[in-house]
Amino acid sequence: MTDGTCPVCGDDFGASGALSDHAWDAHDACRYCGEELTTEDELYVHWLARHKGELSRVDRKRAESEVGPLTFGILVRCSPHRMYGTSDE
Ligand SMILES: [Zn+2]
Ligand SMILES: [Zn+2]
Repeated sequence: MTDGTCPVCGDDFGASGALSDHAWDAHDACRYCGEELTTEDELYVHWLARHKGELSRVDRKRAESEVGPLTFGILVRCSPHRMYGTSDE
């Protein structure tokens, strides 16, 4: 995966972590795939549901502390078959 390149506009932010804020502030989009999301909560849930394995340590901590157990049901709806990091053959 590209580490510091914005998937929406292609700007390169290196490994500083600035991309995380840029992608959200500039595009309301996920920094990993460029998908647009409406709220910050949605972004964090999206991160955990779709990019759990590729999240940086900082992003993962941030997402997990923001999402918490309350929205766990959303994760289940988003990815019913890909919970708990089970490998699919
Ligand atoms: Zn951008
Ligand atoms: Zn994404």
